[in-house]
Amino acid sequence: MNTKVIVTGGAGYVGSHACKALAAAGYTPVSFDNLSNGHDWAAKWGPLVVGDVLDPAALDAVIAAHKPAAVMHFAALIEVGESVKRPEDFYRTNVTGTLNLLEAMSRAGVRDIVFSSTCAVHGDVGDALITETSPIAPISPYAKTKAVVEGMLADFAAAHGLNATALRYFNASGADPDGELGEAHDPESHLIPIACQAALGQRAGMFIYGDDYATPDGTCVRDYIHVSDLATAHVKALDRLLAGQAGLEAFCLGGGVGTSVRQVLDSVKRVSGADFDVQIQPRRPGDAPMLVANVGKAQSVLNWTPERSDLDVIVETAWNWHKSQAKA
Ligand code: UDP
Repeated sequence: MNTKVIVTGGAGYVGSHACKALAAAGYTPVSFDNLSNGHDWAAKWGPLVVGDVLDPAALDAVIAAHKPAAVMHFAALIEVGESVKRPEDFYRTNVTGTLNLLEAMSRAGVRDIVFSSTCAVHGDVGDALITETSPIAPISPYAKTKAVVEGMLADFAAAHGLNATALRYFNASGADPDGELGEAHDPESHLIPIACQAALGQRAGMFIYGDDYATPDGTCVRDYIHVSDLATAHVKALDRLLAGQAGLEAFCLGGGVGTSVRQVLDSVKRVSGADFDVQIQPRRPGDAPMLVANVGKAQSVLNWTPERSDLDVIVETAWNWHKSQAKA
């Protein structure tokens, strides 16, 4: 059996955890990453090819050299606030980059792809749980690029026989329980890493963006999903594709539990044993009050259940990672 899988963005946060899970499942991940946000130390589960999805020749070369059975596509710009300021970069990397990849796959006869999408393609659904059939109504340029790509996958499936799975993540969080990988964005914008940095004294304190939402404690509610649970879902989605799934399928991947910003900060203080200053700021533009998944389809079709997405487990693994990085 051909075990090779090209993983674009394999040196990034979710991509590197997926590579570890792929290797554990007997696949050979080949990371293709331009290292703009990824780290070469994170690509240790198979070869790393440094290259850019905006370079069609580099895509042709990596596919020709490794002849993969399938592709996992993580390479993208991801910071929502940046996407509002410079949408052109997001459309270029996320949409044109994916078009380049699909065309390179098509030229080489590679037909199966797992795509890293986002629950943000659904926009703000109020206080309903989000399912795969919730309307597609992205708000930010970032989320719009992901929705465009999902549309592109559907069209390539119909026209060219592409088989694709779009995995719509909720809040990817936590770190490898073995301490080998973790989240390392620069600058950091996500809640749990920022709280860990505050607990380590690496920042003077932190802000809660809005405590006047119509939620139980006034702060935003999100669905935090452990990155290793996400990685497992990618392997299951790939297994299903290689077993003959046809066309495009989408799955919502969350823990299925809503957690407020205050609950996250309480957990970080509890797990770390450190107190830090927290101040209330105005709402952050574009934040929906509540985003929580109904994960019934992923459970029944992919046979996937989140196993590490209890809040304190997520925070403990993130905390251990940030502590180890502070010592390094
Ligand atoms: N948040 C916050 N302070 C921070 C960072 C984030 O209050 O320093 C809030 C943010 O407004 C959102 C939640 O934490 O309601 C999760 O934000 P994050 O950026 O981690 O993920 P998002 O849900 O935006 O993808």
